Amino acid sequence: MVNKEVYQQLQQELTDKSIVLVAVSKTKPVADIQALYDMGHRDFAENYVQELVEKQRQLPADIRWHFIGHLQRNKVKEIIPFVHLIHGIDSLKLLVEVNKQAKRWNRNISVLLQMHIAREETKFGLDEAELKEIINQLSGLTHVEVKGLMGMASFTEDKDLIRNEFAYLKSLFDQLSLNGKREDQILSDPHSYKLPLTFLSMGMSSDYLIAVEEGSNMIRIGSLLFGFRSQKN
Ligand SMILES: *Cc1c(COP(=O)(O)O)cnc(C)c1O
Repeated sequence: MVNKEVYQQLQQELTDKSIVLVAVSKTKPVADIQALYDMGHRDFAENYVQELVEKQRQLPADIRWHFIGHLQRNKVKEIIPFVHLIHGIDSLKLLVEVNKQAKRWNRNISVLLQMHIAREETKFGLDEAELKEIINQLSGLTHVEVKGLMGMASFTEDKDLIRNEFAYLKSLFDQLSLNGKREDQILSDPHSYKLPLTFLSMGMSSDYLIAVEEGSNMIRIGSLLFGFRSQKN
């Protein structure tokens, strides 16, 4: 079931602010995706490769598929032919594999680097040293384009903590962006890491309002649109 009113409201709110709404359809049937598609929506996200591949086969070809899960290197090749944006690049090894497969398919693959911003140990993502290492290797990776950063805040009721985590990610984004400031910051060589970053992917159903206030321009919304999910995810 798709909550069409919530969708229309959300879409309106976000379009005014030029924020991209990514509909997270994991665990939901293709009929739900088709229903939102029929309302004009094109950006959908999944977090399991198998599920994404199966759904992609059954649905219209002009859907922009986002991969938001933890991507295993041996699964990369399955999504490269069609994926629109990979949000969860959390190691150089993974990015090298994406580049390799992209080259085989003669594609340029857009990716976001996932930063570890939450207090929780369990969340995936890069620290600043790993981020810098990746950026230093980018010139050799001819078939990937780093389009921005992604992060997940702690799962907590503590709104200040969530806000701080998002603000930290936004500050990294600004430092790395061509038009951001950089003085006194972590990355030592000021000229080597400037990137044409476009997307700051942060915020989900429970925390997107805070994320938007802190500068997000791409939010990933599942349960608000499609209703609650069972355990699996
Ligand atoms: C499931 C998921 C979401 C959406 O979560 P909701 O709380 O249902 O909006 C967003 N981002 C990632 C990475 C997810 O795995």
